[in-house]
Amino acid sequence: MTKENTLTRIPMPCQEPGIRSKNFEEVALGYSEDMALAEAGRCLQCKKPLCMQGCPVEVPIRDFIACVVARDYAKAYEKITSSNSFPAICGRVCPQENQCEGRCILGKKGSPIAIGRLERFVADRAGAGAKVDKVLGKGKRVACIGSGPASLSCAGVCARNGFDVDMYEAMHEAGGVLVYGIPSFRLPKDVVAREIEGLSRLGVRFFMNYVGGRTVSVEDLRKEYDAVFIGVGAGLPVFLGVPGENLVGVFSANEYLTRVNLGRAYRFPEYDTPVYPGRHVTVFGAGNVAMDAARTALRMGAESVNIVYRRTRAEMPARKEEIEHAEEEGVAFTMLSAPLCFTGDAEQKLCSVKLQKMELGEPDASGRRRPVPIEGACVDMPTDLAIIALGTRSNPVLLQATPGLSLNDRGYISVDENTGETSIANVFAGGDIVTGAATVILAMGAGRRAGQEIVRRFA
Ligand SMILES: Cc1cc2nc3c(=O)[nH]c(=O)nc-3n(C[C@H](O)[C@H](O)[C@H](O)COP(=O)(O)OP(=O)(O)OC[C@H]3O[C@@H](n4cnc5c(N)ncnc54)[C@H](O)[C@@H]3O)c2cc1C
Repeated sequence: MTKENTLTRIPMPCQEPGIRSKNFEEVALGYSEDMALAEAGRCLQCKKPLCMQGCPVEVPIRDFIACVVARDYAKAYEKITSSNSFPAICGRVCPQENQCEGRCILGKKGSPIAIGRLERFVADRAGAGAKVDKVLGKGKRVACIGSGPASLSCAGVCARNGFDVDMYEAMHEAGGVLVYGIPSFRLPKDVVAREIEGLSRLGVRFFMNYVGGRTVSVEDLRKEYDAVFIGVGAGLPVFLGVPGENLVGVFSANEYLTRVNLGRAYRFPEYDTPVYPGRHVTVFGAGNVAMDAARTALRMGAESVNIVYRRTRAEMPARKEEIEHAEEEGVAFTMLSAPLCFTGDAEQKLCSVKLQKMELGEPDASGRRRPVPIEGACVDMPTDLAIIALGTRSNPVLLQATPGLSLNDRGYISVDENTGETSIANVFAGGDIVTGAATVILAMGAGRRAGQEIVRRFA
């Protein structure tokens, strides 16, 4: 391999932008074996692998890449799953550029090893194949409330150690944001389903349409189970609080994406889930959720999709790759603009949004420069579908119905950071309901930690 080859990563083959913006198939097609071998061959096999330090769950990255070089993909899978239960998911959605890849030494002079792409390659080749080791916790029972990555991860650890695990999920399908939030063009539903099937094979039972705090309570579950894990996420949308937000045609990203993804509105007429048809769509926010909503609206047939953000591109929190993909597909960006009010027609249907132009001032508490309104600078933007993607908060349904459960001052569950245990004995929590909206890998890490503590305590 020449020096130049060592410094440049193998590009990910993708569907062409003009084609993919009209379908819900996966955008990134995955490495072929030759590509994976060439990319793995760039790894320097550092004595002190910094990449591992950048991974929230400390996947043995150097060692799994060595296995790929040796074409021992089963061993590579074993290495990864020693600390990450769902590599096919993380290989696709983890923000690797800020984690493992951000620490790769090759990034100093060229491009870092494409660790996420290799992780995905290994996982797709090996498939879900969790090992059953039913001995330790025989006869012990664990209940998980919610079925997102935090609960799935906790359930996996417990089930692999012989515990009987039951999951209680409010929706009719398991997976949390992995199924109702992240669209299939980034994370195909069959990839998530495969991981969930793996858990079912381990004996995990899924109970759908159970709302913790309503149809099932933590107190009741404590009587039946040795331990309870709460992984209900942070799914309550934040709104703008500006006039006109209740007009027909203004949606939270949460509702819009849930209708399209979980409700499979994109597979009309096979699925008849109603979804508001937008011709000129405006999305407010600049994180991954905003990118997903904008790209989804495009695929649902919008003529134009505009992302409106009150800061500049440099401050956008979404992954760089997602911003680039959105742009390639034709999503437009209107920077330094914030909504003042929405206006509607005689039938209360959204027609336009008034935008206040901004400039950047001094940095605020987040370290990003604060957007400041430019007096008198306003424009009207015609729009018939507005999607608000400003973030989410904790949903109070379960929290308010659980006496003795301590919350922090932001309204999330307080836990012991080493064990994940809440203020109620043997009731654990993890994921977004503890940290606030974060990432899949952090939720999985928290679920795993709690699972390990449950095993330690009860096996
Ligand atoms: C559109 C979108 C895109 C994202 N993209 C990325 C990405 O690219 N990379 C990344 O790392 N992260 C991404 N995230 C964030 C990531 O998905 C979350 O941080 C992660 O899913 C949190 O996992 P969790 O298990 O804590 O909660 P969730 O995934 O939210 O799962 C919680 C589950 O609990 C259920 N539930 C809620 N209340 C109850 C109740 N009372 N009773 C029973 N069940 C209940 C919910 O229905 C849900 O199934 C994205 C988030 C969104 C919304």
